Amino acid sequence: MGATLRGLGVSHGVAIGGVRHMGTAVLEPPARQIRREDAPGEQDRARRAVEAVAADLNSRGQRAGGEAQAVLEAQALMAQDPELLADVERRIGVGSTAERGVYDAFASYRALLADAGDYIAGRVADLDDVRNRIVALLLGVPMPGVPDSDTPYVLIARDLAPADTALLDPALVLGFVTEEGGPTSHSAILARALGVPAVVALPGAGELAEGTVVAVDGGSGEVFVEPSTARRTALTEAAAKDKAALAASSGPGTTSDGHRVPLLANVGGPADVAAALAAGAEGVGLYRTEFLFLDDSARAPSEEKQVEAYRQVLAAFPEGRVVVRVLDAGADKPLDFLTPSDEPNPALGVRGLRTLLDHPDVLRTQLRALATAARGLPTGLEVMAPMVADRQDAKGFADACRDAGISAKVGVMVEIPSAALRARSILREVEFLSLGTNDLAQYTFAADRQVGAVSRYQDPWQPALLDLVAFAAGGAGAEGRSCGVCGEAAADPLLACVLVGLGVSSLSMGASSIPYVRGTLARHTLAECERAAAAARGADSAEEARQAARGVLSGE
Ligand code: PEP
Ligand code: MG
Repeated sequence: MGATLRGLGVSHGVAIGGVRHMGTAVLEPPARQIRREDAPGEQDRARRAVEAVAADLNSRGQRAGGEAQAVLEAQALMAQDPELLADVERRIGVGSTAERGVYDAFASYRALLADAGDYIAGRVADLDDVRNRIVALLLGVPMPGVPDSDTPYVLIARDLAPADTALLDPALVLGFVTEEGGPTSHSAILARALGVPAVVALPGAGELAEGTVVAVDGGSGEVFVEPSTARRTALTEAAAKDKAALAASSGPGTTSDGHRVPLLANVGGPADVAAALAAGAEGVGLYRTEFLFLDDSARAPSEEKQVEAYRQVLAAFPEGRVVVRVLDAGADKPLDFLTPSDEPNPALGVRGLRTLLDHPDVLRTQLRALATAARGLPTGLEVMAPMVADRQDAKGFADACRDAGISAKVGVMVEIPSAALRARSILREVEFLSLGTNDLAQYTFAADRQVGAVSRYQDPWQPALLDLVAFAAGGAGAEGRSCGVCGEAAADPLLACVLVGLGVSSLSMGASSIPYVRGTLARHTLAECERAAAAARGADSAEEARQAARGVLSGE
């Protein structure tokens, strides 16, 4: 039996399987000189690597079908470009190794592309991917990106970016373990959306040998290496019992004394709708529309494509509401055609609503697409803006919605401390607030949510974060407006009770967390939630706050 590793459990459940590593970016091969007589052999090695990568891209394309096939086949053609190959052979002829020849030839082609206007420049990322694949094959290291496997596996990565999500096949990923990230990282969000167990912030994960069998407990944050049969049985039995208890919980969200708290789902697009419905979501509290834009970071999706995606989600909740967040580009979700590439601190730069106010055409098209998508449907469409700092931002968004003919409710996310502190002033311009506790923690504690080393600050139990939640929810209550939570804090069942006690009116989370939150909320009265909230705010650390709330809610 092997070791037990401990990280942060961010998505419930147990996964047992062999590990596969997400390939990292290819390093620059050393500029080593070869002997003249070795050149033909190296040229042959380079040609064979190019052919193998092109064949692999074509066969992946055939398996994927649709738009992905066109992209992969275009990449295969890039790999086989005769001029590029001639340049590789020329470089090897004057002393380069095969990998260095490929690396340098692609670099000079890349420079040409990057200077050749928007459309072609957008293909640079595809070209880099082709180069990385050929160089990885020549160096004998794992291919960059998502593992190409036909059998299910536990994915090990440094961290996952939103752009990786499009490439993951949910049928093959049993669970995630990442070295970096925290409870609000995209790895955590993605795991909850897929409903797979996940452990993040586990520094030793990268050293697990490919294929090692592990058992991942996404509740406790433990990863058992080569678990014994007894351990496997105990873990799977406990997980099955948990699941059965949860399946029995259903209906709208409410405290035991009947205080209604709508439980909504966070979705990234139509693909997440089935899980949301299965979990009994009463609607969507956060539709992250940027996933639609990440397919092609060189330009916005067409208005028609947007209408189609929005309509599918809206149509799934005829009796509920669907809160759509307009594009949140920048920082951890960069888009080539919108995000400045030279900012020293992207999280503090032009992102979220700031980007949209700088590109009113993109915002206008999205709002128009939303208005069209909602036409004729009974669903309650609501739109909200990310990264709103003050009343002026809120007014800019509300004006844009009015100009685009939006009849939906208009609201904003509270992700910046200034917005929480001035909630009432912001509500002079818009009708509702939704607390994005992931970014609110990042900006309150000056701790990048993508950096594992500072993940302790991302703990949503931090009393300072709870103070800001209370302030914003209290402000909204005084104005007779609603204030929900759509950050990952809402997915923690105990914390969900505390949020309700702080005055939050709805909770939105990854679908897989809904049954857990519903069950815990149903066991407590509103007064108990309020007492737990007061106890948590009276603490001096996240851990003390958690213990204090647990003490109240478990009657200890
Ligand atoms: C948040 O910041 O809490 C949020 C819900 O938005 P995202 O995680 O997409 O930044
Ligand atoms: Mg956010």
